[in-house]
Amino acid sequence: MGEVSREEKKAQFRRDLLDISHLNIPTYCEKCKGVMVFKGVGEYKCEDCGHLEYDDYGKCRNYIEKNPGATTAQVSAGTGVSQKAIRQMLKDQRLEISATSHAFLKCEICGASIRYGRYCKECETKYHRELEDAARTHKPHANMSGFSAEIHKGEEGAKRFKRDW
Ligand SMILES: [Zn+2]
Ligand SMILES: [Zn+2]
Repeated sequence: MGEVSREEKKAQFRRDLLDISHLNIPTYCEKCKGVMVFKGVGEYKCEDCGHLEYDDYGKCRNYIEKNPGATTAQVSAGTGVSQKAIRQMLKDQRLEISATSHAFLKCEICGASIRYGRYCKECETKYHRELEDAARTHKPHANMSGFSAEIHKGEEGAKRFKRDW
């Protein structure tokens, strides 16, 4: 196998640590097939038409904000997210159903202080930017402005983030 730079290794480590693929992240806009860009706390906005969507975490958070004190079963019924997935989010401390505060939490990637969850917003956003780059590369419909697909082509794009073409 080829040489993997330390930077690439670090990036891979961050991706493995921050594997949130089980949250049903919206990749493409259901209206226009544009790339959905992460806005924070489970919210995504289509970069082409501005349509908003939420991943499972965003759905549950919104529901709990409107229905404080809801049980896992109620959150599941209200959002369509499975109870198993909700329990996983609780375990990951992504969701707080009870009002217990988590003082002294630190981002598992960079060590910054955080109020909830396992990662700071910066690390999570960085991860999403990589997913969005990959989504642009593999965009299924050719409604893009020509050349951008060419720049990123080849080498199973999602896994490569080399910039030295
Ligand atoms: Zn759209
Ligand atoms: Zn961080």
